[in-house]
Amino acid sequence: MTETITAAVLDTTVADGDGFLGTVPAGGTFRIVDLHGNQAVDTLFYDAADLDNRYSAMDTVREQGRAYLTTGSRLLSVNLDVLATITADTCGRHDTLGGACAQESNVVRYGEHTRHQHACRETFLRYGAQVGIGARQLGHNINFFMNVPLTVDGGLTFEDGLSAPGKYVEVRAERDLYVLISNCPQLNNPCNGWNPTPVRLLGWW
Ligand SMILES: [Zn+2]
Repeated sequence: MTETITAAVLDTTVADGDGFLGTVPAGGTFRIVDLHGNQAVDTLFYDAADLDNRYSAMDTVREQGRAYLTTGSRLLSVNLDVLATITADTCGRHDTLGGACAQESNVVRYGEHTRHQHACRETFLRYGAQVGIGARQLGHNINFFMNVPLTVDGGLTFEDGLSAPGKYVEVRAERDLYVLISNCPQLNNPCNGWNPTPVRLLGWW
């Protein structure tokens, strides 16, 4: 029996602080590689046929009955459709509670002197605009590779990542999707190891 190795149809690198918008067809496999480790990759999924049918962190957490995402997690939409399934994960834990950084939340958390810093929300809006994704379509995202432990009293903390160079996560699209990514530029907490780095995106379909 011979093994067939299919060349990736998507293979691109997203610089630290930059973004990505692309399509993944139903049945396609999409992989994010944390090239240097400890890099938060803020990600949103949309039903390509209906942008308002977007990823829902709340429904995903409730449906799977646990707070973190890993292999087997089904990523639900606001209409309770399964948009994608995590099919491989060499990191082991991904956050979907912490949300994306914004200039406003940076000011609240870290002070007025951070207002000018670029943030994930701006990247989402800039890349999303290519297909009509605006502020109304931005919900709570997935933070792949980000370690945001729940505390016993129900709080959230930003901790050093569990990821490492070369760790990856893979999802299978369960319908035609738009994938919107902000490769997080945050410098004020350890979500990127205090040093944002590039990630690689691969796709097979
Ligand atoms: Zn961010």
